[in-house]
Amino acid sequence: MRPIKPKQLFHFFAIFLLWFATSCKQESKEKEIPPPNFIIVFADDLGYGDLSCYGNPTIYTPHLDQMAHEGQKWTNFYVGASVCTPSRAALLTGRLPARNGMASDKERVLFPDSKNGLPSAEITLAEQLKQVGYATAAIGKWHLGHHEQYLPTHHGFDYYFGIPYSNDMDFVGEYPNGDYWSQQSDSIKTEHFNVPLLRGTEVVERPANQHTITKRYSEETVSFIKQHKDKPFFIYLAHNLPHIPLFASKEALGKSKRGLYGDVVQEIDHGVGQILETLKAEGLAENTIVVFTSDNGPWLPFKTNGGSAGLLKGGKGTTWEGGMREPGIFWGPGLVKPGVVTDLGSTMDLFATFSAMAGLGIPQDRAMDSHDLGPTLLNLEPSPRKHLMYYRGTELYAARMGAFKAHFITQGEYRQFGERQDHEIPLLYNLDHDPSEQYNIALEHPKVIAQIQKIVTEHKSGMVLGKDQLAERE
Ligand code: MG
Repeated sequence: MRPIKPKQLFHFFAIFLLWFATSCKQESKEKEIPPPNFIIVFADDLGYGDLSCYGNPTIYTPHLDQMAHEGQKWTNFYVGASVCTPSRAALLTGRLPARNGMASDKERVLFPDSKNGLPSAEITLAEQLKQVGYATAAIGKWHLGHHEQYLPTHHGFDYYFGIPYSNDMDFVGEYPNGDYWSQQSDSIKTEHFNVPLLRGTEVVERPANQHTITKRYSEETVSFIKQHKDKPFFIYLAHNLPHIPLFASKEALGKSKRGLYGDVVQEIDHGVGQILETLKAEGLAENTIVVFTSDNGPWLPFKTNGGSAGLLKGGKGTTWEGGMREPGIFWGPGLVKPGVVTDLGSTMDLFATFSAMAGLGIPQDRAMDSHDLGPTLLNLEPSPRKHLMYYRGTELYAARMGAFKAHFITQGEYRQFGERQDHEIPLLYNLDHDPSEQYNIALEHPKVIAQIQKIVTEHKSGMVLGKDQLAERE
């Protein structure tokens, strides 16, 4: 070995110093602006009128109200479909579910004997954020396919804990008149629903104890935050409740003046409080965005066991406002400028919004239905979303342009025999003036209808339906 000359030594030392200085600079730059953490709290079948901050007179939701007060409360925030499976696909992919086969005219959602699920070619928000090093968790209801290849851990989530479909499935109870929904709530037992609870891809409990499920989902979220506080994380917390059957823990039971439904919503709110408290205690509050919304409107045929759409017409399963307009709360001190936003937004926009905040563009190789709401969250610009398409299955039933909404087809609630009506002259409502869709103004505004029809024609020309993933059963 040849001895190293002093000149060479100096050279090595200079290179080392330069490398050290550059890496320190990069590190301090990264420390200055780490990408934000994201938490989506997604309730199931909770309506527009089910939170105190959205006008409910007897359900008490102080933590969600605090989020709305410290952050933004959106009053025109929508989901991509009015039932569970397609709505979830829309949120996680930023695409209308008709595009990825997660909406069907044969089945409205997936069932425990369904064969398929969200295609692997779809890019979920979790897969997107993983590209830049996020830790990702899905906690709660999945409902995008329960066979292993469709589970969250095969769709970009590092971790999964939850019931893979709706809590009313795998029914094994017997009731005198055969109809469990007409039973008193105290005769409905959690063991009547043989739903599995999974950790990763393994069943860890069956039937899942639904009395404690809401509480356990919140606790799982808190512990994931604590375990991953040193790197950016994305948590998709999709509660199974307040979808029927309703269950609450001992601590929550009997607390709400609204009855069992209120107890359930208040228990979700309590969990939100624990999450916010954890973020503050761990020093993460200034760099985390928490969003609260719901997958679709209230299941009205179940009367007081279902929720309320407040002043909106209709509920789950319809393309009336009550089926698809939801509470939309964005909280993030320093990242969200407080206020009430009356512009249009959609759960599909979370994909582009979070991507931009994490320094990512959205996929260019497919049609996307996602807008970046970031500048609106900072109150710098109005929402870039100007239109909304209301689908039932793969058919476009209605479209919104600014304040105006035209219904081309209308139909009743899920599980009821609401007759389909095709409207030769679309029904037209000004939702800013008439959020309850009471006064059809089609005859006074033929030009508005023509404009909406033009937008719809353009939209339809770009719509390629995905292969139906919901129809096939085992
Ligand atoms: Mg639902």
